[in-house]
Amino acid sequence: MNKRKVLVVEDEKDIAELLALHLHDLDCKVTLAADGHAGMRHAFAQNWDLVILDLRLPGPDGLSICRTLRRESHYVPILMLTSKSSELDRVLGLELGADDYVTKPFSISELMARVKAIFRRIESLEKRFPGGAETLTIGPITIDTSGRQVLVNNEPMPLTAREFDLLLHFARHPGHVFSRAQLLDSVWGYGHDGYEHTVNSHINRLRSKIEPDPAQPEVIVTVWGVGYKLDAQSGMQAA
Ligand code: CA
Repeated sequence: MNKRKVLVVEDEKDIAELLALHLHDLDCKVTLAADGHAGMRHAFAQNWDLVILDLRLPGPDGLSICRTLRRESHYVPILMLTSKSSELDRVLGLELGADDYVTKPFSISELMARVKAIFRRIESLEKRFPGGAETLTIGPITIDTSGRQVLVNNEPMPLTAREFDLLLHFARHPGHVFSRAQLLDSVWGYGHDGYEHTVNSHINRLRSKIEPDPAQPEVIVTVWGVGYKLDAQSGMQAA
């Protein structure tokens, strides 16, 4: 298998080198960028398997790079390193389309677990859809899996990486009821014990973007006491 290509944009030399060392152990080919300008340049120079972005950088910060990368049609997994644990950073990082974030100071084992979870998720997507291209339709919603784009009534609807993964998961299992714990497992990809409420808030945000009336969901419906499912009826109307 080809080595995975990882870009690390981090101005703290010690952290950058520690990451490079551990990524090498995972058989990745690592490129380091020490400021936002170099990061921005490298980010678009080739197709990365993963971009690790520090939030605070000299020059353009991690959020600007993340935002710019997400405007591209080619999807690249992004892991953010945030320097403080404020909710704002967390929300901003994920709202702008990062796949995951780790708060500094972090343990290297925790960070590598997140990296592996992202690789596993990408790998299973590649295995299931070797060609990469697939379009799914649910009523007025069209999902382009290779470009990770969603259209609602033929209008592009920007979704965060997690919202996209959630929608895709439901779209691939129409009518199947998932508990919050199962969704955490399949969509978030690693242990999030006790974080079931994050599922609820992501579902609500997703509904506000894709449901004709988010107060009366018709696409992703609540199954009381169990969890959520994609209404198979809405899927059948698609054809
Ligand atoms: Ca920094």
